[in-house]
Amino acid sequence: MDQDTPEAFTTAAAHEASRRRSFAIIAHPDAGKTTLTEKLLLKGGAIQLAGQVRAKGNRRATRSDWMSIEQDRGISVATSVMTFERDGLIFNLLDTPGHEDFSEDTYRTLTAVDAAVMVLDAAKGIEAQTLKLFEVCRLRDIPIITFINKMDREGRDPLELLDEIEKTLALDVSPAAWPVGQGRDLLGVYDLLDPALRMLDTADGSHIPLSGLEDPQLETLVPEGLLAELRDQAGLVTGGYPEFDREAFLQGTLTPVFFGSALRDFGVGHLLDGLARLAPPPRPRAADARMVAPGEAKLTGFVFKVQANMDPQHRDRVAFLRVCSGRLQKGARLLQVRTGKQVPVNAPLFFFAKDRQVAEEAWPGDVVGIANHGILRIGDTLTEGEPINFRGVPSFAPEHLRRVRLDDPMLAKKLNKALEQLADEGVVQIFRPLDGSPPVIGVVGLLQIDVLQSRLKVEYGVPAGFEHTQWEYLRWVTSEDRDAIARFSQFNRSELAEDHDGALVALFASDWRRKRAEEEWKMLSFHALREQH
Ligand code: GDP
Repeated sequence: MDQDTPEAFTTAAAHEASRRRSFAIIAHPDAGKTTLTEKLLLKGGAIQLAGQVRAKGNRRATRSDWMSIEQDRGISVATSVMTFERDGLIFNLLDTPGHEDFSEDTYRTLTAVDAAVMVLDAAKGIEAQTLKLFEVCRLRDIPIITFINKMDREGRDPLELLDEIEKTLALDVSPAAWPVGQGRDLLGVYDLLDPALRMLDTADGSHIPLSGLEDPQLETLVPEGLLAELRDQAGLVTGGYPEFDREAFLQGTLTPVFFGSALRDFGVGHLLDGLARLAPPPRPRAADARMVAPGEAKLTGFVFKVQANMDPQHRDRVAFLRVCSGRLQKGARLLQVRTGKQVPVNAPLFFFAKDRQVAEEAWPGDVVGIANHGILRIGDTLTEGEPINFRGVPSFAPEHLRRVRLDDPMLAKKLNKALEQLADEGVVQIFRPLDGSPPVIGVVGLLQIDVLQSRLKVEYGVPAGFEHTQWEYLRWVTSEDRDAIARFSQFNRSELAEDHDGALVALFASDWRRKRAEEEWKMLSFHALREQH
């Protein structure tokens, strides 16, 4: 195909988009996300040895002081992207921090994926963090594939787990497989969508095709007791749960359920096949002015994450761009819609489990890193000239608000600059009170404050402390009625601030005050979540 005509680009972009599966794994800590990630990457040939995902984290952690927080506490702060190819498809796995104090990062990452894998521990089912992350997926109608992990250990009854998913998440479940035995007796899984037995401790891909549950081969493969149980239960689940319905799955109202053991590398290939077959390629995305289709000729994309210190030699910042349409070429100059400036993309980076590489081109569904010196920030849309903005990189109302205390007033200017930059990266949110008092910072998780404190000191040479404020709650305030906003601002000046983008926020000392303001000012809307731009 001649790639130089606009029509050919359209076809090429549509074709390349159709090969992409961009997804994230959501899980409560310890459910097995890291182990599953390793096994997925191994299958895709992205890494040679299992164990490297963790090893990479540790190596990185030694690079700079603030990363040592990661190491000390054994948590992963950084989000990275891992790309691998299998059977002609390109998988982009967007990694997310495991610790809930960094969940803002995870929420933003979820705006950049087309599907999510929800990992559950078979002994625990739905846990607190699973529920929170699921709610973000639901907000964005992200299709979810469920993987019930640790089936090699004694766990809960699979039927009970399915019921729990259905009830707790109000999500239809459609089992894609059924376990044969569990814990020490786990023998394999029976593939319900494409009748076959996938045996434990054999090469995962080499499954035994069957004609169905009555196939006589089963009698030689599965001991009598287990077989009776399998026939019984598989009959129950096929009758008792909805058949897989792609439309419902794409709308985020039904989840196919796989079973396996990441540790034993069992069921992972099955899950990957499921992702290939069921998870959608990039779909049209809403921008403020119109919907943008992945197959369009012109490049569009948005920044969902900014990361500093990826390369200690060049104190650079890398903005992660999710490509939404067209082709990104090395050397492109793109319009940053927020500022109207041109941004050169000289060396877009692709990330692999071990390394980063300069990309010659990237397509819809891909994520590339763009090194920059603080020009790009979270929520920025980049295009080839069209002034549109993608919706939906969210800010969440912080759960903790702190006033910055500076011991050396001479450093005030430096502190301001540092806070601006760190807010661009999404490390913290910054709010400037309208009465001119010192800035208030907001975080969702308290560990974010430790990271901020450490980075201020190490990178910017600004030692700072953080004090509690009289405020407990924050809401963004909007209204069509400008007069009402003006009156509200006059009345509550000492409890109002602007966020990083100049949007108005109200601060409240208690939930009672918040509720009262909402009742008194009915012409205003108070939001706990703000979509940037
Ligand atoms: P994460 O916190 O979700 O990333 O969880 P990890 O992948 O670090 O796993 C947490 C613990 O569970 C580790 O000790 C793993 O070895 C263990 N684990 C993970 N998957 C399995 C599994 O399928 N079976 C068993 N028995 N243990 C597992």
